[in-house]
Amino acid sequence: MGRQRSSLGGLLRQVHVSGPLSRAVLAERMGVNRSTILALTAELAGVGLVREEPPSGVSGAGRPSLVVCPESERFWVLAFDVAVDRLVAARVGLGGPVLDRREVPRSRAGVDLDTVVRDLVAMGRELVGAAPGRCVGVGASYCGMIRPGDGMVRYGPELGWVDQAFGTELRKALDLGVPVVVGNEAHLGALAEFARGAGAGCPDLIYLHGDVGVGGGILVGGRLMGGESGYGCEVGHMLVNPSVSARPCLCGSRGCLEAETGEYALLDAAGGGGSVASVVRAAVAGEVWAGRAVAEIGDWLGIGVANLINLFNPGVVIFGGMLRDVYAVAAPQVGTRIERHAMPVSRERARLRLSELGWDAALIGAADLGFGGLLSDPVGALS
Ligand SMILES: [Zn+2]
Repeated sequence: MGRQRSSLGGLLRQVHVSGPLSRAVLAERMGVNRSTILALTAELAGVGLVREEPPSGVSGAGRPSLVVCPESERFWVLAFDVAVDRLVAARVGLGGPVLDRREVPRSRAGVDLDTVVRDLVAMGRELVGAAPGRCVGVGASYCGMIRPGDGMVRYGPELGWVDQAFGTELRKALDLGVPVVVGNEAHLGALAEFARGAGAGCPDLIYLHGDVGVGGGILVGGRLMGGESGYGCEVGHMLVNPSVSARPCLCGSRGCLEAETGEYALLDAAGGGGSVASVVRAAVAGEVWAGRAVAEIGDWLGIGVANLINLFNPGVVIFGGMLRDVYAVAAPQVGTRIERHAMPVSRERARLRLSELGWDAALIGAADLGFGGLLSDPVGALS
């Protein structure tokens, strides 16, 4: 019984992450025979989660193996992203397609829990509105430290939140009768890039997300390194600059990676004003002042990445958020620091990549969080 449930979830997870797959590929990936795949598919099709189709573009003799497709329009989740400058809500179908989305800018200062929940719920209700199919879960990404279980924001310095009952209030206000799960944006970004982005097939992965701060998600053997209580991977507060001239950090310390490489550091290095995007654009266009600013940030970033490579021997390090733009320009500085400070044996297989999911990485990770219940027990979750 339990075994059947986990196999059902296993098959559904395969088509959720990879999209339509033939019975033959499913049998191979799951290490079971085709008759088992047939039985599992029939059970999932019986509750409407998948359908079988002949493969597209197949001609000629022989009977092609049918393709198992997720029913993306029939089963979906609501995904939210509480980022530094914006709130995003999306309806994401089984199999990963974004079916519909809303986005509003968010002012940085003085935003309280009630306001954020109210704005998210307004967008969520619009999306749920007359949407066909069934909402099977809600996942939310938040730029701060999140208590697993109830989605309490323990510490969210960008919004000035300490111990705010975000998950509980969002669940109450949405009142959809489905679980609401909250995660840290960089943790979710790491999982999303592993499932569908620049880290696909690479279970030892480090994802760095930059905006005002710098968040991190570290996967070891495909599992997020959550730590004792879920607050692990705070790579943004790794000390990279112990000198007296180090920049103060929102956490109260000085010289943290995020203090030296975050948005304020870049804009100050560029002489103040503007936006990260405008400085990076100017650097790409060959403006010396901008190039120098991005290089300075890249140098600190390289020190941080070198430390992470020595510690975790990752297969891939992915730059997301504004660090995607920074790395695209400052790759030489980052590379020099890695060569100088990371041990050859630790770094020889580490690839450095730009995020493929871009600013949606956390949102897509949040959607997968929302699908967690369905994927662990597909039939049970629907009954
Ligand atoms: Zn710090």
